[in-house]
Amino acid sequence: MTEAELPEREGMDYDVVVVGAGPAGLATAIRLRQIAEERGEDLSVVVVEKGSEAGAHILSGAVVDPVGLDALLPGWREESDRPLVTEVNDDHFYLLGPAGGARLPNFVMPPLMNNHGNFIGSLGNVTRWMAQKAEALGVEIYPGFAASEVLYDDNGAVRGIATGDMGVDREGNPKGEFTRGMELRGRYTVFAEGARGHLTKRLIARFGLDAGREPPKFGIGLKELWKVKPEKHKPGLVQHAFGWPLGGKTGGGAFLYHMEDEQVMVGFVLHLNYQNPYLSPFDEFQRFKTHPIFRDTFEGGKRISYGARAITEGGYQSVPRLTFPGGVLVGCAAGFVNVPRIKGSHNAMLSGMLAAEHLADALVAGRSHDEVASYEGAWRSSAVGKDLHKVRNVKPLWSKFGTYIGIPLGALDMWTNTLGFSFFGTLGHGKSDAQSLKPASEFKPIVYPKPDGVLTFDKLSSVFISNTNHEEDQPIHLKVRDLGLQKSSEHDIFAGPSNRYCPAGVYEWVEETGAEPRFQINAQNCVHCKTCDIKDPNQNIDWTAPEGGGGPNYPNM
Ligand SMILES: Cc1cc2nc3c(=O)[nH]c(=O)nc-3n(C[C@H](O)[C@H](O)[C@H](O)COP(=O)(O)OP(=O)(O)OC[C@H]3O[C@@H](n4cnc5c(N)ncnc54)[C@H](O)[C@@H]3O)c2cc1C
Ligand code: SF4
Repeated sequence: MTEAELPEREGMDYDVVVVGAGPAGLATAIRLRQIAEERGEDLSVVVVEKGSEAGAHILSGAVVDPVGLDALLPGWREESDRPLVTEVNDDHFYLLGPAGGARLPNFVMPPLMNNHGNFIGSLGNVTRWMAQKAEALGVEIYPGFAASEVLYDDNGAVRGIATGDMGVDREGNPKGEFTRGMELRGRYTVFAEGARGHLTKRLIARFGLDAGREPPKFGIGLKELWKVKPEKHKPGLVQHAFGWPLGGKTGGGAFLYHMEDEQVMVGFVLHLNYQNPYLSPFDEFQRFKTHPIFRDTFEGGKRISYGARAITEGGYQSVPRLTFPGGVLVGCAAGFVNVPRIKGSHNAMLSGMLAAEHLADALVAGRSHDEVASYEGAWRSSAVGKDLHKVRNVKPLWSKFGTYIGIPLGALDMWTNTLGFSFFGTLGHGKSDAQSLKPASEFKPIVYPKPDGVLTFDKLSSVFISNTNHEEDQPIHLKVRDLGLQKSSEHDIFAGPSNRYCPAGVYEWVEETGAEPRFQINAQNCVHCKTCDIKDPNQNIDWTAPEGGGGPNYPNM
C-alpha cells in the first residue's frame, strides 16, 4: 500500500511534544509543567517512548552526579522511594597490563574526576521514577510508541512527529491488526532520543545543525549486571580501568560499580574510532572480566542482565546547533556526555531543564513553530557548557596520542582547565568514526578465547537476558541503502566488521558454496544500540524505528 492509499492519521495537539522518555526528555517535561504551575499557565506536554515502558531502553553505568536531580526535584533525597540510595565511598583507577595492573593514586586525578558525593544506581530505575513524577505533574506519557517521522509545516518548520504504523508485514503490507500511526503536533517539539537519535540525525542533516562543528564521536558501551556473593560486595565502590585488553592505540576502558543488594554493574566502553575491522567490542568486554584484578568479584556470582548502547564522546566541540524552527535538541541527542567522567545523565537533565525554561518563555509569549535561539545562545555559559568545556581535549588527545601518552596529556589538560587555561586551545576530532576503519588487509584476524559460560559468554545467550523482543513479521528496521556496496566494500575490503561490532549478533555474512556471500540481518535481536548506524564504513546502514514496544526490556540497567 502506498502512503497515498493509507487512511489518514488521527492527530492530537499539544504545546510541547517530547520524543524520548530518558532523563533528558523527562526533565524537559517535568520542568515545563513545574513552570506552568509556578506561573499559573496551562502548558500541555506529551512524551512518546519507543520502549515498552519508560526505562526499558535505558542502559547506562551508572554513577550519577546528583546535580541534575538536585536542581530538578530538590527534595528527592528525602523520598522513601528515591531511585538512588548508594553513595560512592571508594573510588579506584587502574592501568592494566595482561597479568596485573597499577592502581593510580587518587591525588594525581584532576578534582573533577572525584566520584565522592555521586550515587551508584540504575539509570533505568531513575527514569521510571522520573516518569511517575512527570505523570503526577500532568505530563502525558505514551510508552510503546516510536516517533518514526518528523512533521513539517508549509514553511519547513517542525510541527510535531508521527508515530509508526503498527501491524505491517515484512513486505510493508498492512496485516489484520493494522493500526495507523498518530500525529502528535506541538507548538514546539523536543528531540530527546539519546545517542544517535534517528530523527535527530535527519534534523541535523536537514537544518545543517552540524555546520562549523567537529564530527560527532561515539563509543559503544556494553554492560552486564551481576548478583555477586556477599563477601565480594562492597557497596559504594567505584572502579575504573584502562589499558588491557585493548592495545595502546584503541581507546576505551572498563567500569565496575557496586550498588545495593549485592549487585555489581560491570561495563566496557570502546571508542568507535578504532581502526582494526577484526576487533570485537563484545569479546574485548568478555576478556576484560578475566583480568586477575577483577575476576574474583564475579566468582560464585550470577549474571542477571546484559545490554549495549552507544555513548556520545564528541563533547563540547561536536555539539550541533540545538535549535531550529519548531524544535530543539536536548541530552545525548545533542551529545552532552563528559567523556573522562563517563557521565551524561546530569547534563541530560540540566539541558532538558534549560530548554524547558526557554520554551516556556516562548510559549507564554504566544510564539510557536519558530526557532527558540535563546536556548542555543545559553547552553555554553550554563553548567552544561562549563562541565564540557573543561574536558574538551581529553578525547582528541587520547585519539591522537593513544592510551599511554594521550591519557596523561588529557589529565594535564583537565588540571590546567581547572585553573582556567589550556595549552592546547580546543582540539578537533578529525575523522568520523566510520572513516577511521582501515581495510582488513592491514591486519591479522583476532582469535578470541571461547566463552566458558560462567564468567564469559557468547552473544546469543547474552541477548537472551536483555529480554529483547520484536514482532518478527514487520519490515526490517535496519535499512541497507546499497547491498552491492555492502558486498564490494563492507565484505570484500573490511571483512564484514558488522558481524563483530554489533553486540547482538544481528549481522551475518552467510557463505554458501557456489553462491555469492549473502548479508543476513537478524533484526529481531537488535538491542537499539545504534552502533551500525555509526560505524558502518560506508554509512550504508540506517537504523530506523521498529514497531513501538519492540527492542530490549532492560530491568534495571
Ligand atoms: C555504557 C554506558 C555507561 C554510562 N555511564 C554513565 C554513568 O555512569 N553516569 C552518567 O551520568 N552517564 C552515563 N552514561 C551516559 C548516560 O547514560 C547518558 O548521558 C544518558 O542516558 C542520556 O540521557 P538521554 O535522555 O539524553 O538519552 P537516553 O538515556 O538514551 O534516552 C533516550 C530515550 O528516548 C527513547 N527514544 C529514542 N528515539 C525514540 C523515538 N524515535 N521515539 C520514541 N522514543 C525514542 C529511547 O528509547 C530512550 O528511552 C553511560 C552511557 C553508557 C552507554
Ligand atoms: S543492529 Fe545495529 S543497533 Fe541493533 S544491536 Fe546491532 S549494532 Fe546495535
